[in-house]
Amino acid sequence: MEVQLLEATEDPERVICTAARNDYMSEFVGDCSFDEIMETAEGDTIEEKQETLIGHLLDHGHFGPFEHPQATFAVKGISRSCMAQITRHRHVSFDIQSMRYVSFDDVDPADVREGELVVTPPSATDPDWVGRNQESGSVGEETAERREEVFNDAIEHAVESYQELLDLGMPPEDARFVLPIGTKVNMVMSMNARMLMHVADMRAAADSQWEIRNMTEEVLDLAEEWCPITFEHYNEHMKGRKNRLAP
Ligand SMILES: Cc1cc2nc3c(=O)[nH]c(=O)nc-3n(C[C@H](O)[C@H](O)[C@H](O)COP(=O)(O)OP(=O)(O)OC[C@H]3O[C@@H](n4cnc5c(N)ncnc54)[C@H](O)[C@@H]3O)c2cc1C
Repeated sequence: MEVQLLEATEDPERVICTAARNDYMSEFVGDCSFDEIMETAEGDTIEEKQETLIGHLLDHGHFGPFEHPQATFAVKGISRSCMAQITRHRHVSFDIQSMRYVSFDDVDPADVREGELVVTPPSATDPDWVGRNQESGSVGEETAERREEVFNDAIEHAVESYQELLDLGMPPEDARFVLPIGTKVNMVMSMNARMLMHVADMRAAADSQWEIRNMTEEVLDLAEEWCPITFEHYNEHMKGRKNRLAP
């Protein structure tokens, strides 16, 4: 899996602060400099003032201003299962690589074992991996090896069947029905900073599945570089809290 930040609102925290201060100013923010807009916020420098204001907004649940800055991420090689989970979030916009128009007819079945086409869950190879709702804990090496064998055989068989159906003239949009839910897909997704915190609340949580959790952690790392005051505050004071509400 790979996650990249493709595009994002320039100076997102200036946008957040301007929108928030708009609510409490008699002057029109469009006629004011940023220094004037931030004049009454606590702090000696403009950065300190932004930190105070953003921390205050987040601590008091004033989340509206965080809907203005938006970021677009490119995600490579997640499973269709992970894609189904993330696309449940209705305020995120998506573009998903199509299996109607992109066929995998040139994939070598040998590459399938290398995880080229299908995501391999850690539980297929790691004897000590303990997942959610798993009845047994660690298993012996022999069981783990057998799991890997069964997993790879099933995928190899599915890919061979898919390729044979294409050879028999079946359209890719129909032949794909035999491919596993772990088949890799690329996508582009855009969301605002508020939604990003909500996705992180739900998908970086311990009860979330490992794949979407890993993807969300990568998105959060990029968000912290893009919108540092907000996401440092989120990571320090809000992430992982119980009784979370949709921010
Ligand atoms: C660990 C885990 C297990 C899950 N298991 C399942 C499962 O087994 N089956 C399943 O179907 N789903 C499952 N989900 C998905 C989950 O139920 C949500 O559908 C998904 O996470 C989208 O999040 P959301 O409901 O916050 O909505 P989002 O679309 O992210 O919307 C954000 C917020 O906007 C508000 N909102 C959006 N739309 C509406 C609306 N129509 N009405 C009222 N308020 C709205 C809500 O406050 C919501 O929290 C699971 C999620 C997790 C994290």
